[in-house]
Amino acid sequence: MPYEIVINERLCHGCGDCYTACPKTQLCLINEDHENLIFVVKKGKAHVVNSKLCDGCGMCIEACPVQAIKIIISAKEVPR
Ligand code: SF4
Ligand code: SF4
Repeated sequence: MPYEIVINERLCHGCGDCYTACPKTQLCLINEDHENLIFVVKKGKAHVVNSKLCDGCGMCIEACPVQAIKIIISAKEVPR
C-alpha cells in the first residue's frame, strides 16, 4: 500500500495507544502474523515494522495523545 507511517521519536513516549488502536495490527496479533505487524513498541518508543497492510484509516493518528504520527500517501498527509 502506498502509505508511509512516520513517527516523531522525539514526541513518542511509548504508550502503545497507536498499536492498540490500529485494526490491522490487532488483526495480525489475532492471526499470529508477526511479519505483517504494522507497529511494535520497544524500548519506550513505537516503531513501524511494516506498513504494507496500512489502509490509511487514521485511527493511530487519532489515538496518539502527543500527535507523534503522520501518515503520508503519495507525498500528501492524511488529514486528522
Ligand atoms: S492508518 Fe490505520 S491501518 Fe494505518 S497504521 Fe494507522 S491505524 Fe493502522
Ligand atoms: S500513540 Fe503516540 S506516543 Fe503513544 S506509542 Fe504511539 S506514537 Fe508513541
